[in-house]
Amino acid sequence: MTKCNTHSLTCPKCSQAREVVLYDSINADHDPLLKEKLFKGGINMFQCEPCDVVALVNYPLLYHDMKRKFIVQYFPPDVLEDENFFKIFRKNGTLSVEGLPDGNYMKEPHLVFDMNEMLRYVVFRDNVFETGQA
Ligand SMILES: [Zn+2]
Repeated sequence: MTKCNTHSLTCPKCSQAREVVLYDSINADHDPLLKEKLFKGGINMFQCEPCDVVALVNYPLLYHDMKRKFIVQYFPPDVLEDENFFKIFRKNGTLSVEGLPDGNYMKEPHLVFDMNEMLRYVVFRDNVFETGQA
């Protein structure tokens, strides 16, 4: 499921509040246009036109591909400074998700702390789905 909300953020240059749509998650199967937008750098970007400011918002983003059965979860790198962040994981680095059977791909999202790495991983999975071994 794709999930987004409108947030009001302050421009670092002119201090004006600007509305920005922030996505929590993108479903690549339901919303192929959002996938395209993601690859063009148009997701979770703050923009202030008069100041010519365009910047990625520090906001987690989940990318879900149901057809190819994978999830990539982006976390802004600041979370690594936050002790509580680690409490949502098991010691083996997997997410603690209730109610899903073992071996379900949704239990083991690929974690990234860099948006470019998210895009590279999606390219990898898209291509390996086409030409990889069974
Ligand atoms: Zn501004």
